[in-house]
Amino acid sequence: MKTRIDKIDKNKICEASIQAAGEILKDGGLVAFPTETVYGLGANALDEEAAKKTYAAKGRPSDNPLIVHIARMEDLEAITTHVPEVAKTVAEAFWPGPLTMIFDKSDLVPYGTTGGLDTVAVRMPSDEIARRVILAGGGYISAPSANTSGRPSPTTAEHVAEDLDGRIEMILDGGAVDIGVESTILDMTVTPPMILRPGAVTKEMLEELIGEVEVDRTLIEADSKIVPKAPGMKYRHYAPKASLSIVEGKLEDVISYINREAGEKIAQGYRIGIIGTTETIEHYHCGDVKCIGTREDESTIAGRLYGILREFDADEVDFIYSESFDAGGIGSAVMNRLLKAAGHHVIRL
Ligand code: AMP
Ligand code: MG
Repeated sequence: MKTRIDKIDKNKICEASIQAAGEILKDGGLVAFPTETVYGLGANALDEEAAKKTYAAKGRPSDNPLIVHIARMEDLEAITTHVPEVAKTVAEAFWPGPLTMIFDKSDLVPYGTTGGLDTVAVRMPSDEIARRVILAGGGYISAPSANTSGRPSPTTAEHVAEDLDGRIEMILDGGAVDIGVESTILDMTVTPPMILRPGAVTKEMLEELIGEVEVDRTLIEADSKIVPKAPGMKYRHYAPKASLSIVEGKLEDVISYINREAGEKIAQGYRIGIIGTTETIEHYHCGDVKCIGTREDESTIAGRLYGILREFDADEVDFIYSESFDAGGIGSAVMNRLLKAAGHHVIRL
């Protein structure tokens, strides 16, 4: 299949590209488009066949449900059987935005979309291109991250093309995304609501609004034998090809440990990648050193994380060492993805 790639400007959205995307989606095809979190692989969420194509294009296990994206609050009702008052409060505060909520699904949503579950995950993105695509495609668009399953999520259209060129009908290239990590997932079918995946909308932000919010234990206990409540979180995700280690401790100890390890590995003939920050980058003496952002602002780190992991794939490094980051704010999402990418391999000094 030839993939059509259209550049599209957020500030001057080309109606012809949106219409073309809408037609493909209504015909059961696949269109990748930018959202504020990562690029999504869009399909008609109410069409079981379209869901099958999504799983095939991504190589995604079919028990890993898709998030249904909507653009209007009134569209929530048709795909759910019950929306608790507290969810309406959360929606008013954080929709459109980087938050997904889980509800009991209505019969309109096929099991092919929900991975066989009786619940449905719903998000209303704020990205204007995403909103226009959703509306043009019929209002209910499933959109998992537009990457090959297991690879780092795409934050640019080039990342999408790397994985899916020739496998999907269309890519809308709206440039780099804003946030860079996937949405927060909040399960509204339990009391108190439970975070199944951390994202830019944090536990603190939610608790300030609605009181107690729980966090799925599997996000906190690294070696827990319990199965995560979001089926997708059980897979090794977001992973680079190289073996990734996170080094934790006093920053100066971390730097000398990484310099020593990198030096030894390079002497043995391996290629080494190092993930440092604006504050530390000049202290690394060997290897392929990349700056992920500044410790002063964790959102810069979120924005670069997946791109850096992909660059290391392209550079064909064998081992990657990363510093550890503060888990406050969006840092909790960053550390969650980094730990998963590392298969929870943490060196504590
Ligand atoms: P992605 O589409 O790549 O952002 O991944 C979607 C995530 O949402 C996966 O971890 C899914 O397991 C999770 N998810 C989707 N629907 C549900 C649901 N009904 N219940 C729990 N988790 C869900
Ligand atoms: Mg994904």
